[in-house]
Amino acid sequence: MKHRAPFDLLFDEFNEPIPDSHFPQYGMSARAAKATVNSESWSDCQPVMNLSSFVTTFTEPEALEIAHQHFLKNYIDHDMYPQMFEMEGRMVRWLHQLWNGPKNVDPYGTATVGSSEACMLAGLAHKWNWRQAREAAGKDGSRPNMVTGGNVQIVWKKFLRYFDVEPRIAPLKPGNYRLTTEHLDRLVDENTIAVVAIAGQTFTGEDDDIQEIHDWLDAYERKTGISIPMHIDGASGGFVNPFLYPEYVWDFRLPRVQSINASGHKFGLVPPGLGWIIFRERKIFNEDLMFYVNYLGGEMPTATLNFSRNAFQIAYQYYAFLRLGFDGYRMVMRHTVDNAEFLRKRLVDSGYFEIMNKTQRIPVVALTLKSEFTNFNEFDVSARVRERGWVLSAYSMPPDAQTVNSLRVVVRPHLNHNVIDELADDIIHACQWLHQHGGTATAPVLHDPHKVAVSKC
Ligand SMILES: *Cc1c(COP(=O)(O)O)cnc(C)c1O
Repeated sequence: MKHRAPFDLLFDEFNEPIPDSHFPQYGMSARAAKATVNSESWSDCQPVMNLSSFVTTFTEPEALEIAHQHFLKNYIDHDMYPQMFEMEGRMVRWLHQLWNGPKNVDPYGTATVGSSEACMLAGLAHKWNWRQAREAAGKDGSRPNMVTGGNVQIVWKKFLRYFDVEPRIAPLKPGNYRLTTEHLDRLVDENTIAVVAIAGQTFTGEDDDIQEIHDWLDAYERKTGISIPMHIDGASGGFVNPFLYPEYVWDFRLPRVQSINASGHKFGLVPPGLGWIIFRERKIFNEDLMFYVNYLGGEMPTATLNFSRNAFQIAYQYYAFLRLGFDGYRMVMRHTVDNAEFLRKRLVDSGYFEIMNKTQRIPVVALTLKSEFTNFNEFDVSARVRERGWVLSAYSMPPDAQTVNSLRVVVRPHLNHNVIDELADDIIHACQWLHQHGGTATAPVLHDPHKVAVSKC
């Protein structure tokens, strides 16, 4: 190789095409590799402006240092990093208490990669419990089903397909986007492993009719003798409800609620990926799903889908709980919901929108254009504000509300009042422009509307 000055070398490296379909043959300098990676992602959106996502995009410098200090640890190596495991166990007990788990029981739960893994573990526990009970009673245990609303996050559809459980999905309708008791009598039967109700759903931010569903299932048991447990998908609501609405009964205070998941990386305020699954008590997590690993001369239970995972999110969550405490989370959530209410008011007052979430628990603003605006739609508004850098989800609602389009803004804690004001201006200006010039977007036809919701960054 002929002698080249370092600058020439960099120059060449920066201009070398990156192979698309074969493994790169030669390496490059660290500086060139870094510049290549970063330049290839320049056109990604700015995470702080991605308001289609629930996931944390804010960090304190101290928390970033925590992440840095722990990110080379593999969480599953309990022998080597027993203190990470200790922190996790302590946080499981804290969450069990936060969600009003019964006292004098052995709480069980685990940190997961996200709510998705947490939901899968909960679904498996209910499937196993149901099948064992059926077999013990000499009944057929081969046709499990699960009841959810059409508003569930995609993870439940994955669970049902991957783990062979029949979906029993209650349809939505224009004007009602929640699971209520309306369809339960044709969906629930002796093969129902659980009813999943959501605290803070992805589409409109609303809660399902948790208490009513619980009461309906009580009445069903009195009538038929069949007792069906509930799982609460608190991916978002799990870190909002306890702090802002302590009197609101959505959690383990309801005896049928056997398991609750939440996303540490949503309103738990940790960067991706951290989720939590907490069981009412240890025995709900079916013993047959538990594996035991040798651990410092003893045996430790393990029951996650993943084996290796990064430990930093666990240290980070522990930092966040210590740093903020109950009071701090309450203040952060208060300010965030206040901002959501401010945005909601500005957009409703603009005259363009109707609000879709009648209740406002988690800080989500879900809107649909008033029917008088026929020359543009929610997809146009989303595309137009994208020119200003904002990413807002637009999607058509799940069946049977698919005629309704939604524009959704997830107001996260990093946004302040000024930013919300500017966002409201940008959305209103987009509507004014579109009303005058007309829009061109058509709603994409998809089997699963979540594809739209999650594909935006
Ligand atoms: C985000 C979300 C999930 C999936 O959670 P991840 O943490 O992204 O894996 C499940 N259910 C609901 C209601 C959610 O909002």
